[in-house]
Amino acid sequence: MRLILVGPPGAGKGTQAVHLASNFSIPHISTGDIFRFNIKGETELGLLAKSYMDKGNLVPDSVTNDMVKDRLTHPDTKNGFLLDGYPRNIEQADFLANVLKENGTPLDAVLEFSLENAEIIKRLAGRRVCRGCGATSHVEFDKPKVSGICDACGGELYQRDDDKEEVIANRLAVYAEQTAPIINYYKQAGILKTISAVGEVSDIAARAIAALK
Ligand code: AMP
Repeated sequence: MRLILVGPPGAGKGTQAVHLASNFSIPHISTGDIFRFNIKGETELGLLAKSYMDKGNLVPDSVTNDMVKDRLTHPDTKNGFLLDGYPRNIEQADFLANVLKENGTPLDAVLEFSLENAEIIKRLAGRRVCRGCGATSHVEFDKPKVSGICDACGGELYQRDDDKEEVIANRLAVYAEQTAPIINYYKQAGILKTISAVGEVSDIAARAIAALK
């Protein structure tokens, strides 16, 4: 299965990606996670990415495209992959189409998560991420057993800089202007499936699997 997840920030793509990747036994490739990993390791790529991410802007295509192209050469992608957070504009979608054409590995599906803006803002502003394992929780809707501590690994929970309210508005604008057009792009290609991202995590997971069958 070669799959892309598309949807606004806060739609729960990352959470669903983990379920789907395990269900289809394919690697979960999140460009946001790769950037955050590099920021943590204070690499050159991390420093560059941080300057864009902190403002809610996209990291330049020249950097992101090559990073994804390289990731898709890893042997674990032989039986498929799940891309989470890429492509994020038409140029990236075109670039990916060329890479996959060269590799002879066309996409099977693009799964869109749909969600209203008001709900997105509530979710993002309360989201917390574990410094240790990257698991996410929410201060209101998915509270950890002990405040500030990750249920999964005991790590410290923090708020992503780009989940601060002043940055969220820009991320939503960037999504509407740059990323939303790829939905039509894949609709025209006949591989788009859309599901509602509202409800319990397990219900959304069931919807996602049903849409991909
Ligand atoms: P995410 O974790 O997917 O919400 O991504 C967090 C941030 O990483 C985004 O707001 C962008 O700044 C950057 N980013 C992630 N994926 C991409 C991409 N495909 N193109 C450009 N920037 C990206």
